[in-house]
Amino acid sequence: MNLDKILFPGAKVAFYGRHSTDKQNMETQLQSAYNLAEKYNCEVVEEYLDPAISSRNKNREGLERLIKDAHFKKFESIIIYDHGRLARMPEEHDTFRMVMSALGIHVVESRTETLYNYGDVVISAIKDGIAKYELDKLRINTKNAIETLFNNGCWTGAKTPFGYEYNKIKEVINTISHELSLVKSIFSLYKKGEGFYSIAKKMPKGSYRGKDWDKYKVKHIILNPFYAGYNSIRRWDLSSSRKLNPREEWKMKKDEKIDAIISLEEWEYCWDLYTKKKAKEITPRKYYTSFLLKDILSCKHCGSFLKGKDQRSKGYGSRIYRCLSCNIRINSELLEEKVKELVKDFRKKNPNDKLLQSIVADIQTEISLHEDLLKSIQQDINNNKIKLQKYDFRINEEFKKETHNNELLKALVLGKEDIAKKIQQMSEEEKRLTKKIKFSKEISLYPENLKHEISIFENEQKVAHQDFRKLFLFMIHELRVNQVGELEITFNFNIAS
Ligand SMILES: [Zn+2]
Repeated sequence: MNLDKILFPGAKVAFYGRHSTDKQNMETQLQSAYNLAEKYNCEVVEEYLDPAISSRNKNREGLERLIKDAHFKKFESIIIYDHGRLARMPEEHDTFRMVMSALGIHVVESRTETLYNYGDVVISAIKDGIAKYELDKLRINTKNAIETLFNNGCWTGAKTPFGYEYNKIKEVINTISHELSLVKSIFSLYKKGEGFYSIAKKMPKGSYRGKDWDKYKVKHIILNPFYAGYNSIRRWDLSSSRKLNPREEWKMKKDEKIDAIISLEEWEYCWDLYTKKKAKEITPRKYYTSFLLKDILSCKHCGSFLKGKDQRSKGYGSRIYRCLSCNIRINSELLEEKVKELVKDFRKKNPNDKLLQSIVADIQTEISLHEDLLKSIQQDINNNKIKLQKYDFRINEEFKKETHNNELLKALVLGKEDIAKKIQQMSEEEKRLTKKIKFSKEISLYPENLKHEISIFENEQKVAHQDFRKLFLFMIHELRVNQVGELEITFNFNIAS
């Protein structure tokens, strides 16, 4: 970022410095700061000074005052002399940097005339030579500081995402409609199964505020619940700007100031797609193969999937599917056309509303299966908890005796540990299932998301090659072929075929 965007004419800036016992040193710092302010026509509204004594929890009045005034927006930026100054002061100062980051107040180094980057606390902390154990403390402090801000509603959106801008004076979030229309198409492409990279390629050149899109920019859009009207903290791992924290660590909060462009349910649907892709449950290769029947078409004789092979380069003039063990070779174009016809025919007999009903029924069946399973797990947990109490009781009894049987005690304790472990495992399973059921009920059955699932069929005339691939994966339960190329097909939905 350019310094003149931060130190604009008339901007109110604060100076923060530590004064050492060496007066000369402080003069240098102040002089440097005032020179910088003058150069950019800014006004230094206040000096905040702390003595540079290494003892902790003392003489931090300057810093405390600075943070308090920052909340009251007494200034727009802070000038420090150099980052080495801040650096030798451990955790409080990193907290300070993160707080300023959250408040959208920039810190400028006057010595180098550069913006102090507080994006990566860990790297800067290492740079600053802070011991590893202090890093952990620092993380906790940072977390707490940001959380406090968040809960107090002070979160002003230091980094307002693409498509929005924060008006500091009116304290409102304005939308930028031409940017948001790009965001909308990004979400819609993502829902269609496209990856970050291919979406970035499809965006108009220079449409990311003058720059081209890349996969990380797209990723930041998709994974930001801001577009569903939610502020969030702790989404990104501070040690790496490209690593997300586990979802349990995020904190999301509805912000009425945000003019959301998608519903939370739709955003969760995208999030689910993302996690599935990451877990390789949906790989781009699964969708993007020139052989539409890869991993779908199996051999009627041996049950293995047929492999696609392109023989055109060898001059045979065709692409084939083959089962090596049964020596079956079938022309792929003919076969794929046949399957397309079968699927189209199935679709004709089953209009959208019927298909939709069937999808809903499938999801509901799955939900009730999961609910049964959940009940039995909960029953098991309770039974084991009773067992645990029995063990506890017997262990206590044994201890009460004047001379206790050590062998028996050992056995009891081991047995108790075993059961405790079991309970823990089952509780984890319980948590996982509960989450899954909640997801099915709230996200999978959400009308907009369901509509999206079948949107692929809506314009059959225009279905592209890759869309057929998705259609096949979605519709076909089993597809088998025999030696002479006769097909047997079953569909994923319990409707007339
Ligand atoms: Zn075979």
